[in-house]
Amino acid sequence: MELSRKVMRIQPSATLKISTTAKQMIAAGVDVINLGIGEPDYQTPENIKQAAIDSIQNGQASFYTPTTGLPALRRAIADRIEADHGYCFDPSQIVVTDGAKMALFTLFQVILNPGDEVLLPVPYWVSYSEQVKLADGVPVEVPTNQQLRFTTADLDRYYTKRTKALVLNSPQNPSGLVYTRAELTAIVNWATEHDVLVIADEIYEKLIYNGNEFTSVLELDDVDMNHVLLTNGVSKAYSMTGWRIGYAAGPQAIITKMGTLLGHASSNPAAVSQYAAIEAFSGDQTSVETMRQGFEARLNELYPLILSIPGFKLPAGKPAGAFYLFPDVTEALHLTGYADSVTFATAVLEEAHVGIVPGEAFGLPGHVRMSYATDMSSLKKAYQRIKAFVEQKM
Ligand code: PLP
Repeated sequence: MELSRKVMRIQPSATLKISTTAKQMIAAGVDVINLGIGEPDYQTPENIKQAAIDSIQNGQASFYTPTTGLPALRRAIADRIEADHGYCFDPSQIVVTDGAKMALFTLFQVILNPGDEVLLPVPYWVSYSEQVKLADGVPVEVPTNQQLRFTTADLDRYYTKRTKALVLNSPQNPSGLVYTRAELTAIVNWATEHDVLVIADEIYEKLIYNGNEFTSVLELDDVDMNHVLLTNGVSKAYSMTGWRIGYAAGPQAIITKMGTLLGHASSNPAAVSQYAAIEAFSGDQTSVETMRQGFEARLNELYPLILSIPGFKLPAGKPAGAFYLFPDVTEALHLTGYADSVTFATAVLEEAHVGIVPGEAFGLPGHVRMSYATDMSSLKKAYQRIKAFVEQKM
């Protein structure tokens, strides 16, 4: 049977692919350290687990919830946002989804008509471009400078009459880059002038290190919030990737249509997960800081180690956020004779038994993404293996 031409154009998620191969090798008895993963290695905090258990035991979790999420959860999200960023959403401007990934998927379905373009500064998270294509849109890569930053002059070059949205991911996966207040203000003002929606993916907002400052788009003064839509969720901040709770918050007309679409797609995210998320957003927040400190300690130990691998460079310096390093490995490719980062990453997995993701998956060849959401001793071992691999091939 011929499958839809739309799905035939979609590539499997490169990060999931490398993780799957790594897992297969592990199952076959190979001692693989997988740095390809994009989820915290910490357990979900106990108070959150307990809220879920309670909702099962008291019977609340047995039933469908409203499509857009439990009213108490939408309230808890609005309150969290107000406490963290001083911005007030009415709960009706928030829709709860099966992870932030589903929020983005639904959003593109709601805003794009065939041929509409979405600007994606490189590097960008793998799923944006495929989700845009699934919504009949056209992903448009916006090249960035050596520090992986861009200006509104770059946006001018890639803007067309079909430009509908721009994805701004800060802190960024894969590089850990965090945009400054001045950059964000300029970008949102540019978007408003051009009637382009800024999709602010702030899923890594709680993971900021070494005194760096994170500014949410919600904290900007004198910008038009009708051109801003926020996506976020519990996965990274509360170590809840398996629970699948995310949300979108923004212009009412978009949020309402997302709810309508989801009513025919998933009906609602799992009720038990929603009860857990209420506790995540409104309960004790100390575990968020504990986990952040854990990641920060790893980053600080790994930073000199990564720079000691021949040909691995971080032109933008030590990343400010998220839990990935995204070195430029162009020189390492020259030294070792690999044609590109795909063949390099494949050889590192097969020969050095370390899973890393090639930059091609993020629209930026010549780089690799290495997650540090793994225990310190495995991380050190993995870095030693990669270093030995490069030195041996030189
Ligand atoms: N956005 C970015 C940049 C991510 O890296 C991820 C997960 O890896 C997501 C969104 C989606 O997270 P989730 O669907 O688990 O909420």
